[in-house]
Amino acid sequence: MAKKYDVIVVGAGPAGFLAAKAAGENGLEVALLERKTDPTIMDRACLQTLISANEYFFRNLLRYNTKDKRICFSSDGFSFKYDGPYINLYSLAAYTPNGHKIEHGDVKEQKGKGEHGRIGIGLDKEALFRNLLEEVKACSVDVFPGINVHKVTTTADGVRAEGSGQSFEGRYIIAADGVNSRVAEVMGFNKDRYYYCNLYALSYYLSGVEMPEPQQVSLVWAYGNEGAFRGYIMPRPIKGEYYLLLLTVDPRVNLEAGVDYFMTEAICAPWFKRAKKLKSFSAVCNCYSPIIEPYKDRVLVVGDVGATQELENNGAMVSGWKAGQAISTAVQEENLGLEITGISQYTNWWKEAYIRDCPHELYMTGMSMPYILPTAEDINYVYSHITEPGAACWNPYTASNSLRDSMAKAVAITQRERPDIFQKLQRKSLHPKELLAEITKISKPV
Ligand SMILES: Cc1cc2nc3c(=O)[nH]c(=O)nc-3n(C[C@H](O)[C@H](O)[C@H](O)COP(=O)(O)OP(=O)(O)OC[C@H]3O[C@@H](n4cnc5c(N)ncnc54)[C@H](O)[C@@H]3O)c2cc1C
Repeated sequence: MAKKYDVIVVGAGPAGFLAAKAAGENGLEVALLERKTDPTIMDRACLQTLISANEYFFRNLLRYNTKDKRICFSSDGFSFKYDGPYINLYSLAAYTPNGHKIEHGDVKEQKGKGEHGRIGIGLDKEALFRNLLEEVKACSVDVFPGINVHKVTTTADGVRAEGSGQSFEGRYIIAADGVNSRVAEVMGFNKDRYYYCNLYALSYYLSGVEMPEPQQVSLVWAYGNEGAFRGYIMPRPIKGEYYLLLLTVDPRVNLEAGVDYFMTEAICAPWFKRAKKLKSFSAVCNCYSPIIEPYKDRVLVVGDVGATQELENNGAMVSGWKAGQAISTAVQEENLGLEITGISQYTNWWKEAYIRDCPHELYMTGMSMPYILPTAEDINYVYSHITEPGAACWNPYTASNSLRDSMAKAVAITQRERPDIFQKLQRKSLHPKELLAEITKISKPV
């Protein structure tokens, strides 16, 4: 008879690995199913950073213990080895299309603080996956690469996952299969979610980039004929290598043409004069309102599965870890005939740490900027009045809040000098559903 697992974890990304590690350390019988034939390969665009190195995120202060090469989340009491390359990131600079710079953090001041001044840490995600694979194997997790789960059914006393011609039985499933989760879809978790749009990403590893400040993340806004997009440029932890990542929610935008524009015409073009493309990645992510109730029928959804587009790598790790602990508690409670409280420990945490503390409306409003200020001239004009650096951060929620504070002065001047643009700015108070209505109409989930 086939082995029955205590928990089947679907997806070996940051959330799935940490869920499997937590359950494995508790002595559970764990199967980790991954679609990729080699779980250590990165096959989707990601800037590969740990964000929020200088503030709480998902109720943890991240620490990279460089002495012992361990990534640590002290509030939730877990850590794991990371012995790959890394680079400290000290500030974020946003550029308007005409080159006005708005800084989140003074890069010199942040650098002067050494490790405590970093806002994020650039990693190599394949090295991270190698380390995490070793971690889960060390706690006897059975890893099954090459399993693309397409069906999940509830059985009399558990749950079954099927994919790639194989079937796995377990008492619980942790669905950690990412933003476009198949498990969430087949289990009906997406039914009550509002669909906004897709986020499209195209990224390159590059050599030969010459940045004004090498340990900074630069964000450049662009408005093309087909629509708006933005680009991030930042160093990789491999000497001499950089990323260029272009993002848009507008399906009409041709991101390949956007890359050419960034490298030859945009205000950042001089940085790419000697640049060479080394490798490319892409991604298409559904942007839904979040899953409010992440558990039903013995399936707990974690990481990006329940998020509006992303929890970020650290958010996914914390979520996976907490889910692994919650299921371990529930399994032991079942074994002992006790009331099951483990699951609600996770669901309560989710509702506070994500739904409440990371409002998805704020996140989606950040993506809606081109639908508030629809021309390059609008954004150039309004942002030209933001001259003081905002909070040093690499966190979408903090950056939005910090920008909102600096916007107050810009809004007052705009109201006086440019009532036409002021009128557009008023749209900022609309719900992102309204801001993105036109994009929603021309998009569909993947
Ligand atoms: C363009 C882009 C840039 C980003 N940059 C950053 C950044 O700089 N910093 C940051 O913190 N976050 C960043 N993120 C977000 C980050 O990548 C995610 O939040 C994080 O990877 C989520 O982890 P996860 O484990 O929940 O999901 P994923 O990392 O998506 O992992 C899901 C895993 O499940 C597997 N899988 C999927 N479907 C199935 C199936 N049916 N059966 C079996 N396995 C399956 C996948 O192959 C994958 O291994 C970025 C995201 C994008 C798209």
